[in-house]
Amino acid sequence: MNFERDSARAVEDKNLQRALVNVTDRFRAARKRASDETPGWDGLRNRAREIKKQTIAHLDDYLLQLEENVRKSGGHVHWARDGEEARNIIIDIARRNGVKSVVKSKSMATEEIELNLGLEAAGIRAVETDLGEYIIQLAGEHPSHIIAPAIHKTRHDISELFAEKLGVPYLSEPQELTKVARERLRDEFLGAGMGVSGANFGVAETGTIVIVENEGNARLTTTVPRIHVALMGIEKLLPRFGDLSLFLPLLVRSATGQKTSTYISLITGPRRGADKDGPEEFHLVLLDNGRSGILANPETRESLYCIRCGACLNNCPVYRKVGGHSYGWVYSGPIGAIINPQLMGIDEAPELPFASSLCGACRDVCPVKIDFPKVLLELRSEVVTRKEKTGGASALLESLSFKFWRAVVTHRKIYELALRFSYYAQRPWKTRKARGGGLRSLPYPFSRWTDERDFPAVSETPFRERWKKMKRRDGGAP
Ligand code: SF4
Repeated sequence: MNFERDSARAVEDKNLQRALVNVTDRFRAARKRASDETPGWDGLRNRAREIKKQTIAHLDDYLLQLEENVRKSGGHVHWARDGEEARNIIIDIARRNGVKSVVKSKSMATEEIELNLGLEAAGIRAVETDLGEYIIQLAGEHPSHIIAPAIHKTRHDISELFAEKLGVPYLSEPQELTKVARERLRDEFLGAGMGVSGANFGVAETGTIVIVENEGNARLTTTVPRIHVALMGIEKLLPRFGDLSLFLPLLVRSATGQKTSTYISLITGPRRGADKDGPEEFHLVLLDNGRSGILANPETRESLYCIRCGACLNNCPVYRKVGGHSYGWVYSGPIGAIINPQLMGIDEAPELPFASSLCGACRDVCPVKIDFPKVLLELRSEVVTRKEKTGGASALLESLSFKFWRAVVTHRKIYELALRFSYYAQRPWKTRKARGGGLRSLPYPFSRWTDERDFPAVSETPFRERWKKMKRRDGGAP
């Protein structure tokens, strides 16, 4: 991944810039309207945060309770330490049942473990059935938003893509494009031997998994094929069924501003007795893949409270300019900036904790009030400490510069002396009075600062002296 390079490209992409503003503005306005209309919205967020905090603190107990209840309802539970193990479990289930093709509903966890690649390598066809995911699968790309995976594509892009990949004429109307996708996917549902979904929540008390969606494709994925496999990150737990009455409205209103989503599927085990539909086999794969490591760190543990609503992305000034692909992995925006380095290993994504202005807009909209600035600073500190240990001369110089800077700004006398020194030191260059004077550029390595920012002139008379003068002149408080 190379955040600096990819974000610079994204900023130059006019289509992407238009699409990002259009879609995120729409989501932001809808979330704001929904939260304003919900009495006690902030109190609901506090309660949700408290429940997630308790759940994550006792995750081991709740996971065992979930496992027991899924088994009691006739389902199978599998534990996957990492992506490879999760892929192998799912492929193994497919092979044992002679499955040749799989339909999938939208799931960031399956993106995380690159399930489609694994299935393909095992000779099993995987077809995405969420419209956005279907589009990016045809394009051979990755999602660029947690809930709107094809946010970066314009209608024209999709028309061309369908014409090229599906052999249909160029269709400019979204309804026509959707109709084509629906016809193709209907056959896939009917022919698939297995459906793979994610899970928005898993309820420990009942062994139920909950899937929230608007298109009905997840409902078909989990009921039409003979086998249903759900892949769920271990942090997606809720202790009680009753908690859904809090989390479902929070999730949907934060994500799209709807009062409720079009479909909410509550799945407790496979088809039983007089059930008219549903799979004959139900498997729940519980994915760790680095989550236990996050759990072990009390400073960043709250990253696991996330319910993947996407609100932080829509409100982030960085995401809104650089889009999702700049983050180099499945999760993007503020949640990607904190979770990717922790799941992948901080050495794989050292730039991401710095991909934030620390404005706190993400924390203000997050339904579980994740304290992003705190977690980002913690991760930044980890990156810097590692760099100091392994980064050689430039890292050492950077670290010494900041230590020097700290010593100066935390001691008044030294600070005053430094200002005097700076004033006299920059006098030889102080020729651009009309532009405010001062240095316009510094030699390397300080040029990395002045290339991007002004280095304003240090005033001959410091502010505190001017303040004293004003007080004397005005005979008291200025
Ligand atoms: S971090 Fe909060 S705002 Fe962002 S996706 Fe997760 S729950 Fe939503």
